[in-house]
Amino acid sequence: MNARGPRIRGHHLICLQFFHGEGYAPAYVRNLFDVIRRLTEEGGRIVTGPDDVCAACPSLVDGRCSREPEGEEEIRILDSLALELLGLKAGDDFDYGEVSVWVPRILDRWHMLACDGCEWEANCRPLISLNTRFPIEQ
Ligand code: SF4
Repeated sequence: MNARGPRIRGHHLICLQFFHGEGYAPAYVRNLFDVIRRLTEEGGRIVTGPDDVCAACPSLVDGRCSREPEGEEEIRILDSLALELLGLKAGDDFDYGEVSVWVPRILDRWHMLACDGCEWEANCRPLISLNTRFPIEQ
């Protein structure tokens, strides 16, 4: 494991497991495929606040998530919850394969505590109930 890979905020460790090509904009989707490829090859490092996924997001404004009125604050609460459930903290390097093994183990709690009201919940719900994830094809 090393620190060459992408910088990732907490909740993206979980949500990326369910990505299968959807997103806010074409450049955002292209970046997500690249981030996941690099995570798989290089691992990554946990950061606080905007990460290498946010970097290509149209909602990143002045270094803050502006998706909701209190976007950055609300997202940081989700980041903290994700890290607590996964037993990780900011600054940790991680192996994406190991995270992918751990996510199904905490998915019931995550779904119960974090997914209500998420605009992507309908995309993830079938897989959450199967406790699996989409295969990534690039
Ligand atoms: S800026 Fe906000 S909406 Fe965009 S990827 Fe980051 S956390 Fe998600």
